[in-house]
Amino acid sequence: ARAWHLEKRPSGLPVASDFALRDIDMPALADGEIRVRNLWLSVDPYMRGRMNDAKSYADPFALGEPMTGGAVGEVVESNAEGFAPGDHVLHMHGWRDEAVLPARGVQKLPPIDVPPQAFLGQFGMPGMTAYFGLLRVAEAKPGDTVFVSAAAGAVGSTVVQIAKARGMTVIGSAGGTRKCDWVRSLGADRVIDYKGEASVLRQLHAAAPEGIDVYFDNVGGEHLDAAFATARQGARFAICGMIDIYNSGAATELRYIARTIAARIRIQGFLVSDWMGEAGDFYRDMAAMLADGKLQREETVIEGIENMPQAFLGLFEGSNMGKMLVRV
Ligand code: NDP
Repeated sequence: ARAWHLEKRPSGLPVASDFALRDIDMPALADGEIRVRNLWLSVDPYMRGRMNDAKSYADPFALGEPMTGGAVGEVVESNAEGFAPGDHVLHMHGWRDEAVLPARGVQKLPPIDVPPQAFLGQFGMPGMTAYFGLLRVAEAKPGDTVFVSAAAGAVGSTVVQIAKARGMTVIGSAGGTRKCDWVRSLGADRVIDYKGEASVLRQLHAAAPEGIDVYFDNVGGEHLDAAFATARQGARFAICGMIDIYNSGAATELRYIARTIAARIRIQGFLVSDWMGEAGDFYRDMAAMLADGKLQREETVIEGIENMPQAFLGLFEGSNMGKMLVRV
């Protein structure tokens, strides 16, 4: 089997030589273990943080060791009760084409009629992030005006659709006309092309003259500052991610943060893992939206495990629409 290893810790934007695809031994199965042939591998922005030698909510990748991440595969051999060859499973031994792993911690795909790779995107971790971040963390309600950044991505595109299905007004921001058109087609009332001529702040003022009630932050930086500038009394900010600084670490100049006080803005950081106990609500509500024809799903698929770093780096260049995936 082959697995991507972390060769060097990047400073700034990672480069291809930070990764190496190497052969790995496949041990015989111990008690309680299964062998999985991976079909789909996930690349996600949080993996950039794991390339640093700094303790965060996810442990750093070890230098010279195989990398890990979300994957969907097929069981080809089982020494564990409840798993049989042919089962499709979701697990965290990604970045490789095959894995031997304890069945504990491996999830069978939920019985929802979507392709298996959707459980790495809209029906998986990014979808749950959208659902819990919007409805539980930001406590978004019908009638709210919701601003979401990276709105053409895996998390953001799902935020747009859940918010519309729940009667909210949605402003989505994305880079470029093609992505903005897609975000509009998902139901967004107004879209902001942050790569366009006018600043995010100016465009957000025009899109939400009365201000915003909720900001779902995937980007940080200029987007976050513009959200502060336009926040109404009692606005709630769900701070999900700040991809704008993952490769720089630079502190951006935030000028409107002081409005937190006078406008009683509530800012809440969150991790999707805080909400796993309520995954049942997520599957129920998302399956209902699917059945009602209220969910669209987009994927950007990179073919071949040898192109996985390219897929990962594409996240920081915006080369994905919807969920970025690698097909082994
Ligand atoms: P996406 O599918 O949204 O991919 C990343 C997108 O970010 C790109 O397509 C690009 O779109 C945009 N982007 C990249 N760099 C910049 C930049 N400098 N400024 C503005 N936009 C940029 O990824 P995900 O949906 O998986 O993740 C979205 C966010 O959610 C990330 O910040 C991630 O870290 C966070 N997250 C947090 C979780 C949590 O538990 N808190 C869990 C999962 C994700 P464009 O072309 O529009 O620029």
